[in-house]
Amino acid sequence: MPVFRDEAITLRHINFAEADRIVSFFSKKRGILKAIAKGGRKLKSRFAGRLEPFHHVEIVYFGKENTTLFNLNSVEFGNARKNIASDLEKYSRACYLTEMIASGLREGDANLPAFEAANAAFEWLDGETSPTALDWIVRFFDLKFLASIGYRPTLDVCVSCRKPLLQNGGDTEAAFDVSKGGLVCPACRPKSKSALVMSAGSAKFMGRIATTAFDKANRLKPSARMMQEISRSIIAFRNSRLQATIKSERFFA
Ligand SMILES: [Zn+2]
Repeated sequence: MPVFRDEAITLRHINFAEADRIVSFFSKKRGILKAIAKGGRKLKSRFAGRLEPFHHVEIVYFGKENTTLFNLNSVEFGNARKNIASDLEKYSRACYLTEMIASGLREGDANLPAFEAANAAFEWLDGETSPTALDWIVRFFDLKFLASIGYRPTLDVCVSCRKPLLQNGGDTEAAFDVSKGGLVCPACRPKSKSALVMSAGSAKFMGRIATTAFDKANRLKPSARMMQEISRSIIAFRNSRLQATIKSERFFA
């Protein structure tokens, strides 16, 4: 039977039979996968402590190529993210990330940009010391993750007329058209019935998210007003594209 090695994030686990655990991972090469950890519930298990959610791990597993449940051979910490489980504010947001991953991807669909966005978001969440930055991590992840699964909002030009926003618009107000999936210029706005109005500063800031990598994201400092305005648009965009209710959001929203 083939043996596989992969880099992964532990997402969740359920107890199975008397002593086993079924663990769900988000892996780099195979996307979401499930594997059974034999004896994983025992205190002296070789998996002890390493099946808990949100850690970055190296896994070795085996099974038929097209199975839906692999056998877990070993789990080693790449990076143990021990700050998340002990902090309710971080934990609730980590649950949100997990739910987004499960809603946006099917089992067995490898998606490297999605994996990298998730891994970077959990890492940032684990290390972040400012409570006010936690929602910013979530919204930054939302845009990166949605883009990685094919829902990339148009933020550099007007989604209606395709003209550059700065040349075709004023500099006081902007708007995000949820159904079209992007920013609209003032000239096109009257035709966009579902557009959510925001300041030009917030619109520019949203554009910067699209062009900023995760490791540079903590240099962007959104104001409270920007967070409020971009969150409204990102959440509406997410809801219209994913068509799933993200339940864990109510624990921190
Ligand atoms: Zn336009």
